Amino acid sequence: MTTVPAGDRSFHDALRRARDADVDLESALTLFRGAARPERARRLFRAAAEVRDRTLGRKLTLTAHLHMVTRCELSASCNYCSLSSTIPSVSDERSPLTLRETLEGVRFALAKGVGSVVLVGGTDFDGSDELLRKIVTRIREFTDLPLGLDIGPSLSERTVRWLGRQNVSPIYCSMETIDEAVFADAKPGDDLAARLRFMGLVERCGGHLGNIVMNGLGTPESQLKTVLASRRFPHTTHLHISTFHPVPGTPWAHRRPASLATSLRLLAIARLAFPRLELGLAEVGVENPRGLASVASQLSAGGGNTLAAVLVYKRLRIDHRERIRDQARSLRFEVA
Ligand code: SF4
Repeated sequence: MTTVPAGDRSFHDALRRARDADVDLESALTLFRGAARPERARRLFRAAAEVRDRTLGRKLTLTAHLHMVTRCELSASCNYCSLSSTIPSVSDERSPLTLRETLEGVRFALAKGVGSVVLVGGTDFDGSDELLRKIVTRIREFTDLPLGLDIGPSLSERTVRWLGRQNVSPIYCSMETIDEAVFADAKPGDDLAARLRFMGLVERCGGHLGNIVMNGLGTPESQLKTVLASRRFPHTTHLHISTFHPVPGTPWAHRRPASLATSLRLLAIARLAFPRLELGLAEVGVENPRGLASVASQLSAGGGNTLAAVLVYKRLRIDHRERIRDQARSLRFEVA
């Protein structure tokens, strides 16, 4: 029988329960705080990786993300987003692609042999239905590759049902944070209630959901609440943890970056709470140079099994496939 030091007992008990997906807010906090100590973090990550291996195995699928297939019409832009930067070269990173550029981007991704393409765009409460249908229709003329979509609550029920028939899944609608006050502070032009309503709509239409939680918004407790709030949406298949990184020229340019180590703790707890989800750190593209270094770390902390390997922006294309393959191989992962 293992002897557990008295001070370690609550962490040990929370981890034992979590191995069976028994994770509530209290035990999630115990794991999160306990794992501030490196030895406990290693135990947390090992448990999460074992759960991932048991449920999903060690085979990775690579995806491509295309930014931005639709314009973001929020006024004001989110305080952390490069769209809110006063520096044109920074805000231009998220300039919308023309239809032709979107189709070229998809062809570029196809040529790289990825397993799916996620179309990323901005939020438009007036609806992006017409443009989105045109984009998907044109893509379907040359490929039946699985498509995901991440354009916020910008679509009607009719379009969501139509997307289901076009094999578009998952449809992301990121909460970022479930804390209303924190959400309003970070995203003054956005609407959390509209996002939650849209997630419900996707589920009613039989679709699958993707969600992103931002490390850097609110307290650890509210971040863990946001992770666990995925339980409200049983059709969730993809959950990502993003790590706040200050973007020059934005209202939050001078905030301290959130720590990758904290994101990994959130990720590992998410794995224990949701053994079967596709989980990982959100791809951060041009905005965060630390992004790639996190591939091996996130796999070691229970992430997987889908990774964004190809990123297409208006003026930039990034291909991380070989570097991801190298990191994955060193951890004995197979890449599809
Ligand atoms: S909704 Fe997305 S694209 Fe629009 S401002 Fe916010 S973070 Fe940027």
